[in-house]
Parts: sequence; structure tokens; C-alpha cells
Amino acid sequence: MVVNGALSAINMSTSNWYDVLEVAETASKDEMKAKYQELLLRLHPDKVKEEDEDASKSVEDVIKAWKILSDADSRRKFDADLKLRREKAEDANFFRIITFKEWQHDKEDLSLCRCGGEFDFEEDDASEDVVIVDCDTCSLAIKVTPY
Ligand SMILES: [Zn+2]
Repeated sequence: MVVNGALSAINMSTSNWYDVLEVAETASKDEMKAKYQELLLRLHPDKVKEEDEDASKSVEDVIKAWKILSDADSRRKFDADLKLRREKAEDANFFRIITFKEWQHDKEDLSLCRCGGEFDFEEDDASEDVVIVDCDTCSLAIKVTPY
């Protein structure tokens, strides 16, 4: 489970345009523009030596990052996408994600952990919110969503 989470984090960082531009996610357009221009200079083919670490970062990526983040609409879209990917990465840490209905339907099976332990979820525990239930034996947990 932890491995899944780590993998997601790696996948995420490879296409996080804020990381490419080396700015905070809260950076203003001016801050991003300054960084973008600085990066273009730094990554200019005339300046980058082959053994330079920064050669791993391509000018194309920096230009793409700037295109996406400098436009309010596409930045908003990317922010939403990032949020979604983070939620998914978080979900990778759960042994099982089910809705309350699914649990009601198949209590016996869904309450069983792969270690042989049990997720101690009762009908009364259902709420409007997401409920996280730990296994009574190991460190795994399930997530029960209201819908
Ligand atoms: Zn368990």
C-alpha cells in the first residue's frame, strides 16, 4: 500500500508544472513569469554544458509549463487535475474503498481484511461523511463513503 502511494507521488511530480517552473503553487503570474524567463536563460542551449545537471530539464517542458500556468483557465484546470491526482494517491493507501450501500450488500466479505482481521464497521457508524475504519489486527484501513 505504501508502495502504491510512493509511485503515485513520483508520477505526479513528473508532470507537475509548478515543479517544472520551480515556483510555489500559490505563485502569482508575475512570480512565474520572472522564474520562466530565468529558466529560459539558464537552459539556453549555448549555456548548458553536457555535464550540467539542469540539462535534464528541457526547454520544451519549461515553455509548456509556462503556457499552462500563465493562462487563468488552463491553470484552474491543472489545479483541479492536481487535486484529483492527490486524492487518488491518498486513496491508494486504503485497502478497500466502498460505499455504504456496497457494504450493506456484502458485509461479511467486505469487513474481512486480507490478514484475517476485521474492519469493525457497524450500521450505526455510517454518516454523511467518509468514515475510515482500521483493521483490528493490522495497519490496513478501509474507506466507507456515504454514496
Ligand atoms: Zn488486517
